[in-house]
Amino acid sequence: MKMRLDRWLATLSVGSRSEVKQWIRGGQAAVNGRVIRDPALSFETEQDSLTLNGKALDGRVVRHVMLHKPAGLLTAARDAKQPTVMDLLPPVYRSIGCMPVGRLDKDTTGLLVLTCDGELNHRLLSPGRHVDKRYRALVEGELEEKDIETFASGMDLGDFTAQPAKLTILRPSVAEVIISEGKFHQVKRMFSAVGHEVLELHRCAFGPLELDPELAEGQWRELTEEELKALR
Ligand code: URA
Repeated sequence: MKMRLDRWLATLSVGSRSEVKQWIRGGQAAVNGRVIRDPALSFETEQDSLTLNGKALDGRVVRHVMLHKPAGLLTAARDAKQPTVMDLLPPVYRSIGCMPVGRLDKDTTGLLVLTCDGELNHRLLSPGRHVDKRYRALVEGELEEKDIETFASGMDLGDFTAQPAKLTILRPSVAEVIISEGKFHQVKRMFSAVGHEVLELHRCAFGPLELDPELAEGQWRELTEEELKALR
């Protein structure tokens, strides 16, 4: 991303816009090894290397994150009253515009992708893209073979008809389901339509990404180059 040097430094939360302007004019910032005294000069944040007072900074402003969402947090960029998934990331992620891709309910756990690439976010959510999401559900009561058929046939949920979904019964009350849409409470509503309340819901996979088993609830890491390529 091309960005003015003063905005770049301020975006990285190393100081306020006026502070970083002063530092730049004072010769404290360098790009690609050359001292830059003009705060208005623009650089490529993903390619050019940035130092402040001789110390190398991680200048990237486009970040993509895999988070193991715990229950109890809202999936939102911000909320006036309740904690959100953004509270799990360092503040720089918010200031560079990182946002969740889609939404998990407050009580749902599992794989959530966040990105500050608005175009990628939009593309992954677009209905035409059909990104598969795999969930594991613990439900009330016992699932039956006929539920597999019902899920596969495309269920009428009143305000919309769900696309055919693949249900795999793992134990009488535990199943995995793969859906390609992401309507509000969709998985819970699908189970409810066959008479089973969802007690716990966990997202195991989003498109080609599997939740990294190394990530405990609340932990996150950046996507690898390969993961990002697969997602795009
Ligand atoms: N479907 C739901 O019902 N809830 C979620 O959090 C995700 C999918």
